[in-house]
Amino acid sequence: VREYVKDYIKRNGLLTLSVLAVITGCVLGFMLRGLALSSQAKIYFSFPGELLMRILKMLILPLITSSLMSGLSSMESKACCRMGVLTVTYYLWTTFIAVVVGIALVLIIKPGYGTDMESNRLGSGQVMTSADALLDLVRNMIPSNLIEATFQQYKTDLIPIIKTQVNTGQPNFVYLMPDENHPKGRTVLLELTPPPDIEYKTRPGSSQQMNVLGIVIFSATMGLLLGKMGERGAPLVNVCQYFPFGIIFLVAGKILDMSDPSTLGKKLGWYGITVLAGLFVHGLILLPLFYFILTRKNPFTYIRGLLQAMVIALATSSSSATLPITMKCLLENCRVDRQIARFVLPVGATINMDGTALYEAVAAIFIAQVNEYELDFGQLVTISITATAASIGAAGIPQAGLVTMVIVLTSVGLPPDDITLIVAIDWILDRFRTMINVLGDALAAGIIGHLCRKDFPPDRAAKKANGAQE
Ligand code: ASP
Repeated sequence: VREYVKDYIKRNGLLTLSVLAVITGCVLGFMLRGLALSSQAKIYFSFPGELLMRILKMLILPLITSSLMSGLSSMESKACCRMGVLTVTYYLWTTFIAVVVGIALVLIIKPGYGTDMESNRLGSGQVMTSADALLDLVRNMIPSNLIEATFQQYKTDLIPIIKTQVNTGQPNFVYLMPDENHPKGRTVLLELTPPPDIEYKTRPGSSQQMNVLGIVIFSATMGLLLGKMGERGAPLVNVCQYFPFGIIFLVAGKILDMSDPSTLGKKLGWYGITVLAGLFVHGLILLPLFYFILTRKNPFTYIRGLLQAMVIALATSSSSATLPITMKCLLENCRVDRQIARFVLPVGATINMDGTALYEAVAAIFIAQVNEYELDFGQLVTISITATAASIGAAGIPQAGLVTMVIVLTSVGLPPDDITLIVAIDWILDRFRTMINVLGDALAAGIIGHLCRKDFPPDRAAKKANGAQE
């Protein structure tokens, strides 16, 4: 009992620290905005937060592969099939409901009608200094994607910037390249193989190079973690201790970067309120209601166990990056069957995004309203179907929904360029929709676990196996 109490305090202590970190990050971010830091300084400031993101992302691949492989391989095919069908059906159904909630609200609130509207174009990339190479080195030590780290380091379409070293007079080549993981691009210092007077627009046939350092660090970390798994997940808890620190910089860094709230129009404000209201109705009323109807258990007790995952979702805007924490919450706090969690969560993190679907529908109709474009019933149906599809197609990474919005807009003849109308506040809405995405997956695991309880009886043997694996 003492162990349990100690463990409980430890876990909730982390939650409190994480919430405090979000608040501190906001306060710090707003305070530092007054200093008008250079964009370079902002990148350095956000660096610890960026590293937190990379650590979480690094866990995604091994988590998904190992949990799906070991989870499904130990299951009977009939039970597996039943659970799979139930899961996918539930996911599609709730996503569709989310879209309907969004459409209803945006048609009632009508945020797009009225006067003011500014568009906020995406900022263009910026030139980096060679100091960034150091950050890049550290970044590469934590590969967020192991497969990418294995295969390649350089892309072919690089834009070279030639820098001359002061002491030797030798030029270095600093390449700035687009990198979807790092919105500002990243730099790579290359050897002096091409003569300095040749201007390279591309680096043809750039050899595939492994990020060996990253792979070594990853493997060593994983090995250490696995070796200690006997102590019932204690190493994971230790990794988590870093989170509050990273969260401060993640949140503050984003606030430093955001556009000035005073330049945002009234319409955009109402649009934001509509999305948030939809997320609230769906996540805190409808989904808990489904949970209650299907399991007859108190949904809010269940949700309380998920708070840590929700804070991480808020801080990272990525349901995939939150996956390790969601898994931990489900197993430790919500006592969901390990096999169920191992299937339902990774699948949900990939295809089930209620928050994203809701937002896509609201955003598309908002853009139509701003353009004074009347949508008929058929087009609303089209939006609801494409928003569901677009959310399935969206990756669980920050602002992925913004990209798949193009599908929804083009399906009803709206200009895809108008995505720029909503870019300014997308980062904040992204955080909240990610929370609902995570919540949707986690509640689904509870529901599927309950519906499939005959296939996965929580008997003593299973419990023991659960405990042993933990
Ligand atoms: N950031 C969201 C997620 O990770 C996806 C999105 O809506 O952009 O769940």
